[in-house]
Amino acid sequence: MLSGQYNVVPMFMLVQRNHERLNLDFHESLARTEVAMAGALLAAAAPQTSKAAAALARETQQRASRRSVASAWLAALLFANAAIFVFKFRVYLRRPDATGLMGHGVNCARAFGQCAMLNTALLLAAACRRSATWLRAAFPALERVVPFDAAMGGHAVAGAALLVSSAGHVLAHVYNFFRYSAAPTPVWEGSVLGQRSGLPPQPRYADVLLSRPGWTGHAMVLLMLLAYPLARLSVRRAHFNRFWWSHQLLLLWTLLLVLHGRTAWLEPSQALSWVGLPLGVYLLERARRSVGREVAVARADCDGGGAVSIELAPPAAFSFVAGQYLKLNVAAIARHEHPFTIASAPGEPRLRLKVRGVGDWTDALRGLALRGDLRSVRIDGPYGAPAQRYRNYRRVVLVSAGVGVTPSLSCHLVWTTREPAWLDWLGDEVYSLRGRGGGEEVGVFVCGGAALAAEVEAECSRAGAGFRFHSESF
Ligand SMILES: Cc1cc2nc3c(=O)[nH]c(=O)nc-3n(C[C@H](O)[C@H](O)[C@H](O)COP(=O)(O)OP(=O)(O)OC[C@H]3O[C@@H](n4cnc5c(N)ncnc54)[C@H](O)[C@@H]3O)c2cc1C
Repeated sequence: MLSGQYNVVPMFMLVQRNHERLNLDFHESLARTEVAMAGALLAAAAPQTSKAAAALARETQQRASRRSVASAWLAALLFANAAIFVFKFRVYLRRPDATGLMGHGVNCARAFGQCAMLNTALLLAAACRRSATWLRAAFPALERVVPFDAAMGGHAVAGAALLVSSAGHVLAHVYNFFRYSAAPTPVWEGSVLGQRSGLPPQPRYADVLLSRPGWTGHAMVLLMLLAYPLARLSVRRAHFNRFWWSHQLLLLWTLLLVLHGRTAWLEPSQALSWVGLPLGVYLLERARRSVGREVAVARADCDGGGAVSIELAPPAAFSFVAGQYLKLNVAAIARHEHPFTIASAPGEPRLRLKVRGVGDWTDALRGLALRGDLRSVRIDGPYGAPAQRYRNYRRVVLVSAGVGVTPSLSCHLVWTTREPAWLDWLGDEVYSLRGRGGGEEVGVFVCGGAALAAEVEAECSRAGAGFRFHSESF
């Protein structure tokens, strides 16, 4: 396996050579070199032993098992939604005091409402990252059955399920409104709504809107109409702040959900029993995050390529494993924090970060560092990341692009960068790299763009034996 300072420079020269001799666009040259190097590395690292076939079989089995864990979670989510829907629908078949007024619209509204509570609980649980980091460290065996690295994907899937169940709930209540607003007075008065809601017979839309379930429900719909479009990947990439602020409003959405059923028109409210625990854990994590831990900036150097290297004095009892990241909060720049991979190895006296200037916040950080005003920051973490799985292997290949190098800095390394100035910085880092022992299965970790990850994954398959692919993208 290639490793260390001497391999990074030739690789950069290879990019330059392709750029100049083959007259390729610089980016294309970079991409070709990355892929070629990844292929060469995989070929070099391929176990040339008679056990290769066994390793291939094991790898195939592991890939299948990872896919089946994710599929099992998806199937469980769908099954739980279906089971809860059917259960609640059937419960309301025995409620003539409700169906007599609203027909099966009330069955659908309650069944979809119950699913919405389940999905809210699941998406909140998936957002509890500190707890997930703690769980995977305390109970490593859980990694086999819980796809921790896919937590944000799970959060998005539960969010999509919540959208469907909420839409079903709202449509069913629109249908119900048309039914009960036209119902004869005796039917209204004999129904559960007539007896418990306090609304007049043949209520108008405004009457319903001003009731507690009415205004909370409408406010929740408005919040979803705002937050869901802004949670799309394209918006997150281009306008992260819009996504972040609109997502904070969903916390208000959850509190409205708890209030929504408190009038208990149809049955006692259950929202708190569904979402209370994950909401409590999530709020505790947020509270801890907002306090953070203030640490002194021991050093902050700006390089010619627009990046800042920061060294922090770690707080007492701050332990992490290589590959994890922390959240950085600089009060002078903004209220919310930004994630950065810890580039130093565990046990080093300083925490090191490498921050690339890509937008408002990172540029402001660079400005502070240039003026010598970056004296202290707040940190929160560490948080688990796919790269920390390198510990499961005796042999690893790490392929990084640009600032994606940071998770790799305590292992063997191949790095491509468009900035020559970064190679100087890397020199110091590379001297502290530690080699790994020999073994048969090879963990391949990619941190870079989607195209690079796809190519390296294809190379893993082509290389033929014993490569287990992991990827991460900032
Ligand atoms: C787990 C993780 C580890 C990372 N490690 C590093 C690292 O070691 N070095 C490094 O230079 N960069 C790293 N990044 C990327 C870094 O967090 C963003 O470049 C930075 O937050 C951009 O902020 P901005 O306002 O300057 O740019 P913007 O123009 O606002 O955003 C640029 C990109 O960064 C993303 N981004 C912006 N703010 C956040 C945020 N608060 N949380 C998550 N993503 C955000 C946006 O979606 C967008 O794709 C990491 C990101 C993640 C998710």
